[in-house]
Amino acid sequence: MINAKIEHDGAGACGLLSIDLGALRANYLALCRRTAPVKVAAVVKADAYGLGAGRVAPVLYAAGCRNFFVAHFHEALRLKPYIPSDADIYVLNGLQPGSEITCADAGIVPVLNSLEQLANWSTLGRDRQTRLPAALQFDTGMSRLGLAPEETQEIVGQPSLLDWVDVSFIMSHLACGDEPDNAANTGALANMREVAALFPAARVCFANSGGILLGTDFHGDLARTGIALYGGAPVAGLANPMKPVVRLSVRVIQTRTVPAGTAVGYGGAHVTKGETRLATISAGYADGLPRHLSDTGAAYFDGVRLPIVGRVSMDSMTLDVSALPESALKLGSLVELIGEHQTLEDIANASGTISYEILTRLGQRYHREYLPA
Ligand SMILES: *Cc1c(COP(=O)(O)O)cnc(C)c1O
Repeated sequence: MINAKIEHDGAGACGLLSIDLGALRANYLALCRRTAPVKVAAVVKADAYGLGAGRVAPVLYAAGCRNFFVAHFHEALRLKPYIPSDADIYVLNGLQPGSEITCADAGIVPVLNSLEQLANWSTLGRDRQTRLPAALQFDTGMSRLGLAPEETQEIVGQPSLLDWVDVSFIMSHLACGDEPDNAANTGALANMREVAALFPAARVCFANSGGILLGTDFHGDLARTGIALYGGAPVAGLANPMKPVVRLSVRVIQTRTVPAGTAVGYGGAHVTKGETRLATISAGYADGLPRHLSDTGAAYFDGVRLPIVGRVSMDSMTLDVSALPESALKLGSLVELIGEHQTLEDIANASGTISYEILTRLGQRYHREYLPA
């Protein structure tokens, strides 16, 4: 009985991670409106940026999404049961040698990033006497993944390399899609167009979230968005047009009042200047709240900023709550880490990182509440 209650209201967890599937759906539809008639694929790698691919993908499918991208082949296998078989799952990082058979049997589509991966996939196609679907990725300036220009020329010179591969999409990724004025974007687009001219029958999949805002030239035949679906800003530093999807509150586990000159936390790195009311909350860097927030970040309660004092610990951190009435916080109270007063972008900035890293690190120790789509 007791366990059931704890599970139900989340009182046993370190805090409450609320994920608004309605906002997720609205973000997907808003992106679709921007790119129409071009369709939008969902990038659900890293467990849908930490939000739960098994919950996120069905909502996006119901909203019309039929193309899903993950990073690793194992993520694709895990995602498969959650979406109907008329949707395609693509593996961005390509296949490791030896996983081709399982991949083909599962009907998952690899992104082929090198001639070696292309050869491995073709060999299986020839063995089975069937053209196996794949996306071909080209490096258009990021030097991370994808066929290099020389490899592209090799395919052009030897079209039989594609005899056993059915190219669903040719694709590439922008290195600077979140920087609208960066000339690297037009350079990458020019490179993508050169590749597209070599494969006139293939559809193009190019823009990520930031790329969508760069304009229709970047949309190709399928856009591929992650962060914007989850409420992150597609373009760093500009007003964020997306609806917030994530809210995070953390439980107070102890309060105390200490005199001036009191050391707080590991290393005694913070020493109080005057009498200070402190509240320790139940989440730390193991819950994805970066240690970088030590003595610089804050939580909020009733709109009041509560500075983090001392170092962020693994499972807790301490706030200066002197600005609140004495009785405001007690054992079990929830303070806001991500919400109305501190957006995902705000906490990412305060942490010296990006929204992507905050989301993907939140972890499994919060009670998760999914608001319905
Ligand atoms: C992660 C990723 C995306 C999604 O990028 P967002 O900026 O989150 O929209 C798209 N394409 C590739 C290749 C990626 O690795």
